[in-house]
Amino acid sequence: MYNTNNNYNKFKLNDWIVMKAENFKLTFTLYFIVFGILITALSTLISYNIHTIDVKETIKRYAQEVSNSNINDTILPNIDKMNIIAMALAEDKVLLQYINAHDKTKIQELNNLFLTLTNSEKNIMQARYIDASGKEVIRVNRDNLQSLPYIVPKEKLQDKSLRDYFVATKKMSKQKIWHSNIDLNVENGKIEVPYRPTMRIAVPLFAKNEFAGIVIVNMLVEELFSAINASAIFNTFIIDKYGNYILHPDNQYSWNRYTGVKRGLYEDFPLNASEILSGKSEGENFFAYKLNDIIQNDDKAILVLQPKSETENSMKRNNIVTSIIVALLSILLSIPLAIYAASTPSKLQKKLHETNVELKRFAYIIDQYVITATTNLSGVITNVSMAFNKTSGYTKEELLNKKMNIIKHPDTPNNIFQNMWNTILEGKRWTGEIKNKAKNGETYWLDQTIIPIKNEKNEILSFMSVGTDITAKKRLEVLSVTDKLTNVFNRRKIDEILSLELEKSARYNRDLSLILIDIDHFKAVNDTFGHQVGDDVLINVASILRDNIRKIDFLGRFGGEEFIIICPETDKSGAFSLAEELRKSIEKHDFPLVKHMTISLGVTMYDQSSNDTETSLFKRCDAALYLAKDDGRNKVVYQ
Ligand code: GH3
Ligand code: MG
Ligand code: MG
Repeated sequence: MYNTNNNYNKFKLNDWIVMKAENFKLTFTLYFIVFGILITALSTLISYNIHTIDVKETIKRYAQEVSNSNINDTILPNIDKMNIIAMALAEDKVLLQYINAHDKTKIQELNNLFLTLTNSEKNIMQARYIDASGKEVIRVNRDNLQSLPYIVPKEKLQDKSLRDYFVATKKMSKQKIWHSNIDLNVENGKIEVPYRPTMRIAVPLFAKNEFAGIVIVNMLVEELFSAINASAIFNTFIIDKYGNYILHPDNQYSWNRYTGVKRGLYEDFPLNASEILSGKSEGENFFAYKLNDIIQNDDKAILVLQPKSETENSMKRNNIVTSIIVALLSILLSIPLAIYAASTPSKLQKKLHETNVELKRFAYIIDQYVITATTNLSGVITNVSMAFNKTSGYTKEELLNKKMNIIKHPDTPNNIFQNMWNTILEGKRWTGEIKNKAKNGETYWLDQTIIPIKNEKNEILSFMSVGTDITAKKRLEVLSVTDKLTNVFNRRKIDEILSLELEKSARYNRDLSLILIDIDHFKAVNDTFGHQVGDDVLINVASILRDNIRKIDFLGRFGGEEFIIICPETDKSGAFSLAEELRKSIEKHDFPLVKHMTISLGVTMYDQSSNDTETSLFKRCDAALYLAKDDGRNKVVYQ
């Protein structure tokens, strides 16, 4: 039923809620900071990604610049220069005269021409004219970079008709230039160290549209490669069509086609080697540029730029550092902002919380002290307050889903409930005093108000009853109208009832009868058995009378050993037969000790025509009783 422990806990809970309220500001601030951090983290991540894409873009742009400068500023001019030198010799007037006229006197002049030209460009290691049959006619050699060129004497000139450069150039048309692969200079069957990469440039000659030999120049291209930009951002490679290294950032691997040093493209580009060889211009970790359009030889060289991992990493590192600084600054900035932003909602929350606690307190007080219940439209209990439990003696579990008549008292007339239902089903409030029965059978009274709870469409959803316990007041009320000994109405109440009933009968023209009862020889009981036994007889008689009258009749003690019954809606014969019934009931009752008792009864009926008053009625009834006594007692007399 009512649990004090429970109560205690509720107050504890409230205290805890109030205590927690002080932390709203901190809580909100933390929420906002966490929110700020999340946003910062997200935007940092996005900006980091954008920057990472940026890093890629930047590297690509650098690759473009580096390759441009290498190709356009170094490779292209160098090749051009070689072409120009070869073409200059091929188009020389003296040489053409010699070819066209077979003027042998020109040999000396030609030798000087070749010598002068070779002398003018230190990278030219050899310049020759080979006639249509493949025999060297003019040959100028330079032994090493430091030495001067010289004319090779006639007897040392050789037949070169089977050499690849001769065979290839012979097939070419006018104005075309043949380039050899880039080779290392081999001296006495050994690769000369330091390496001296060389390229042969040959131009076919024609006399009257007939092939008339070739001009061929051997040039060192060392400078060309040493001028290839050793970029800070990229590892620079030049490979031939097989993936051999013409140029490797680690010089020991350059020219591995000749040196026999084992180094595969796969070792430098484990993931991209085949892409590079297949001619792809860009991959995850490389940028490739075909050099064949410029060099135009069988090497089919490719310039490959590989971003140095440390460059990329340092760019990424910078990116991370920038992101972290931005993130930290944002977080730092978000703290005062969060504190500021938290102030309004935390104040509101605090207010809300306080209101809530207040409401809970009220709800608690109402629950504890106000007897309320909610029912559905058919009177089934859906909720009750603690006070309801306390008063009715039922637990909440015992009441829920039960009909409200679980606490109905059998004394309460049905018409009260009918009236109540009619009122509340019309959507009106009903107020009244109701006698109820607690679980332990005790009676309790409620001054009850029942309110229909409606929705916005004015439809009734449920009923709420609010009651005040008026049991004490009712008890007083009963005491004030009850005879202490016999528990029937006292004389004062009987007078009040009679005047009220008389009024009703007069107004509505209804019957009303009165029965006056006097115990026969009662004095003898007191005298024989004592006052206490007399009292018991009085109590017994009252109870027998009460048990034999109708619910609408009023029984009262008229004084001493006399009782009175007011019988509304009862005519003369009705009252008479009731009186007779009562007389017989007493007569046959077996009283303790006293055994046999009788009563005499005077009966009268309200007579509207003779302007009956209480006094006249009493008087007539008393007279009837007197006649009954006179007639030998244990009689009913009507008058
Ligand atoms: P009768 O048949 O003529 O009515 O004789 P009676 O003895 O009943 O009538 P009487 O008026 O002589 O006596 C009434 C007695 O009832 C007198 C009184 O002591 C007694 N009495 C009145 N009130 C009480 C009471 O409350 N308790 C007890 N024990 N006796 C009462
Ligand atoms: Mg008497
Ligand atoms: Mg008497």
